[in-house]
Amino acid sequence: MQRRHALLILLALLVALALQGAGCAQELKPRIEVAAPADNAVLRGVTDVRVALADVPADSLSTTRAFVSLGGPPWVEMKREGEGNTWTVQFDTTAYPNGPAKMLFMAWGPKTKRLGMTALVTIQNGLQCYFADLHSHTSYSDGTLYPADAHLYAREVAKLDVFVLTDHLESVDDAEWADMREQAWKANEEGRFVSFPGLEWTKAYGHANIYDPAGRKFPNDFEGMWKAAAESGAIVKINHPFYPDPINGVNPWNNLAYSELADSVVELMEVRSTKEEEAYIQALKAGWHLAAEGSSDTHSPNWGNAGTWTGILAPSLTRRCIWEALRNRQVFSTRDRNCRLFLWVNGAPMGAIVETPAASVAVTVDVADPDAQESIAKIELYENGAVVATDEPKTAARRWEITRTPAAGKHFYFVRITQGDGNMIWSAPVWVTVGG
Ligand SMILES: [Zn+2]
Ligand SMILES: [Zn+2]
Repeated sequence: MQRRHALLILLALLVALALQGAGCAQELKPRIEVAAPADNAVLRGVTDVRVALADVPADSLSTTRAFVSLGGPPWVEMKREGEGNTWTVQFDTTAYPNGPAKMLFMAWGPKTKRLGMTALVTIQNGLQCYFADLHSHTSYSDGTLYPADAHLYAREVAKLDVFVLTDHLESVDDAEWADMREQAWKANEEGRFVSFPGLEWTKAYGHANIYDPAGRKFPNDFEGMWKAAAESGAIVKINHPFYPDPINGVNPWNNLAYSELADSVVELMEVRSTKEEEAYIQALKAGWHLAAEGSSDTHSPNWGNAGTWTGILAPSLTRRCIWEALRNRQVFSTRDRNCRLFLWVNGAPMGAIVETPAASVAVTVDVADPDAQESIAKIELYENGAVVATDEPKTAARRWEITRTPAAGKHFYFVRITQGDGNMIWSAPVWVTVGG
């Protein structure tokens, strides 16, 4: 009898708990409701962001703070509208890379704790052209002076937009590596000057720059280096592709043989002469997806004033936009300090990998040198590594449109500009798979 009694009491307790649970469901459930932007909206420029903090106890609204970001930091604080439960901000999307993104909303208050909400959006801003030197040295390897001097010179004297110091990792110790990183992060100023750390991996197989590496130590064989770089999320560039020359039958990079692993982490190759252009075309024909890149490899105290540069196409001069542009190969090599170059194939910018069902490939070249005395002597369109069309505008700016109708299959297109003074500029390719 006693056992049955105990069971009845337990049952009563369970019913009471269940009823209490039902009561809880009627309590306030604070949450963020997004009024703008609409889900899946396409955003450009400065956009209105508006959220309502629903079911937040009225007495805690005044101490609640709300923030918005695109995919993570930096967070932008929103402002409460009057005494209501709406928070708004004018949000500048140009500070973020183009493409699909998660807009994140967060709110904190004494009674609400932390609230979160997301909206899926697509960012679509126009591309600007920035000028960079992504390969240089100081006395930490075989150059001169110190990383602080290099960053100051690149920023204030050469007036570069983007700079990366890349001393040979074989000669950099822990303290030097710490200083290289510190100087790069300190020199960076969002919207004005972008810098991040880098190192040059220097072996008999060839030299490669590793951008924003997780550490200063990498395997001595190039496959091991690629793997380690890929795992740490770094970006790799093949430097001066014909140096060292073949030694004892060892060709740099195993004669640029294609490797899927390498292709996933190597986005750039130095192409600053017609000789290096040969390596570029050889690599592209082998199947690599690489942009022509024009950094100086200076060993002198002239960082950013060494006669060859890299153009980077990005929506704005923020570290995230520049990094994303390098990852997407939106890069060109230029012997001219300020000539802007855009290449579009079927609407996609240089560096893109696209597919088209039609056998029609529409190429647009937009090249403009702000110096009036400069002229564009020649634009050459390369299809699969060979020149298929030429334009000779003899003006400082030129927009050239041309349509190609290649056979079904994979093709790549890039342009080479020759200026009146002989300076050359190489674009990254657009890779097009034409349906058949
Ligand atoms: Zn080197
Ligand atoms: Zn170097």
